[in-house]
Amino acid sequence: MTEKQLSSDVLIVGAGPTGLLLAGDLANAGVRVTVLEKRGSESNLTRAFTVHARTLEQLDARGLADDLIATGAPLSSLRLFGRLRIELGALPTRFPFVLITPQSNTERLLQERALKAGATILRGVEVTGLRQDAESVRIETGEGDAKAVHRARYAVGTDGVHSTVRDLLGIPFPGESVVDSVLLADVRLERTPEDVLTVGANENGFAFLAPFGDGWYRVIAWDRARRLPDSAPVNLSEIADITRRALGEDYGLHDARWSSRFHSDERQAPNYRSGRVFLAGDAAHCHSPAGGQGMNTGLQDAANLSWKLAAAVQGWAPDALLDTYQTERHPVGRTVLRTSGALVRLALARSGPTRALRSALTSFADGLGPVAAKGARSVSGIGIKYPAPKDSHPLAGRRVPDLRLTGLYPAEGTADGRTGGPGRLYEALRTGRFVLVSNDELSAADPWADRVVTAAPADPHGKLRDTVLLVRPDGYAAWAAVDPSRGELRAALAHWLGAPSDD
Ligand SMILES: Cc1cc2nc3c(=O)[nH]c(=O)nc-3n(C[C@H](O)[C@H](O)[C@H](O)COP(=O)(O)OP(=O)(O)OC[C@H]3O[C@@H](n4cnc5c(N)ncnc54)[C@H](O)[C@@H]3O)c2cc1C
Repeated sequence: MTEKQLSSDVLIVGAGPTGLLLAGDLANAGVRVTVLEKRGSESNLTRAFTVHARTLEQLDARGLADDLIATGAPLSSLRLFGRLRIELGALPTRFPFVLITPQSNTERLLQERALKAGATILRGVEVTGLRQDAESVRIETGEGDAKAVHRARYAVGTDGVHSTVRDLLGIPFPGESVVDSVLLADVRLERTPEDVLTVGANENGFAFLAPFGDGWYRVIAWDRARRLPDSAPVNLSEIADITRRALGEDYGLHDARWSSRFHSDERQAPNYRSGRVFLAGDAAHCHSPAGGQGMNTGLQDAANLSWKLAAAVQGWAPDALLDTYQTERHPVGRTVLRTSGALVRLALARSGPTRALRSALTSFADGLGPVAAKGARSVSGIGIKYPAPKDSHPLAGRRVPDLRLTGLYPAEGTADGRTGGPGRLYEALRTGRFVLVSNDELSAADPWADRVVTAAPADPHGKLRDTVLLVRPDGYAAWAAVDPSRGELRAALAHWLGAPSDD
């Protein structure tokens, strides 16, 4: 038996949305990246339907948001259960809504981008073994004559809930099952629902309808009284019956082209990193679909990790930068588990006190109070912030909104080939680099021109008048200061961007 030996800078296991975004970012940064995917062809199974505002901002920073929005329907309010809605229309973002579009549309755009940037995607290749030492990772795929060994400096397991990479690393996945015997089917309807998303629950179960956009609908239904193993056959009349009870009518659902029964777990890996190998997306955390956050969280894991890995491969990553992936993303995963767990438990509530809480929450959310606004920021991802040192500027670690900029430099790679004219922050981030925003002292960044673009705020007298702001490639503030000296600015640049390339 001969073993093929193949090498890359980074190996990604799993071509779901998380792996595809990561692959595109790394390839764009000039990193040699190979994705290993066990499925022979692209998945035709859509799970997620919701793309939240922060994810759309991340896609905007990759030039993909407008194309994705064209495939779906934006909703400015997301109905969770009963009358409980999350209002998104007042979110401070270019995307004050949740986009309803099948997961396959997101994956298609991410895959096209990754391939165009030069990523290699190998399909029909199943990972079976993994070893690492101080310098590299060795991944085995296939069996017998098809066996191959892939080597890389780093690897990322984006291989979903049943992650082989996680198992091979020996990382546990503690948690519990939250809801079982949930029925899924893709159906045609005789009557079109009034709302884009139709959601309903009562004390006996719930039902949910979402459009694929081509006449097909996904129905999800759960009956408290009928709990069977995942392998039990699915009967369309059973789904219609639950739907009628939860939504008031079954919309004449018929002609299922696919159906399944599944259970949902709530689990999180304690460590997102072991040596040179990382976990991201469902491989690192999973929870019920309530709130529609799984894919969104995975995509944001990828956006957090990609520039750090690229910096490590290119040799300028400051010490411990890779460790910040765990310190930043693990708490976000924990919060998402908590939020989605609370939503699902409230939705399924039967006991008196929990149902009372549900009614109280419903009326509170109706009033659009501060809790409702916090809920909108949390579910949309707009409220995510990362830890920053105690004495740092209040902006450090926070999401940076889409600032109006002028004088982008260097301008290559920015949207529409702009040459230093007006632009937006999320266009500047399409370079994959940091963005330094300041009214003066921009030449201090010249030695790092391969890692940072500079720009002035479009309104020189606005909020950033005296503030110098360094934005990370993932749109969070790395550092900010009011009127720093040139020396302080250079020290901050060296801290975040490593030694200048001409040192
Ligand atoms: C019913 C349902 C509804 C949902 N709705 C939403 C929603 O509305 N919004 C939302 O954000 N999320 C939703 N989710 C969750 C969302 O679908 C997942 O979070 C998302 O798919 C995770 O993406 P991923 O790339 O991390 O993993 P996956 O999409 O699971 O991709 C993992 C890939 O790894 C491959 N793989 C696995 N093992 C190996 C191996 N050994 N070798 C090579 N390849 C391997 C798999 O074939 C797969 O392609 C929903 C989930 C369900 C079940």
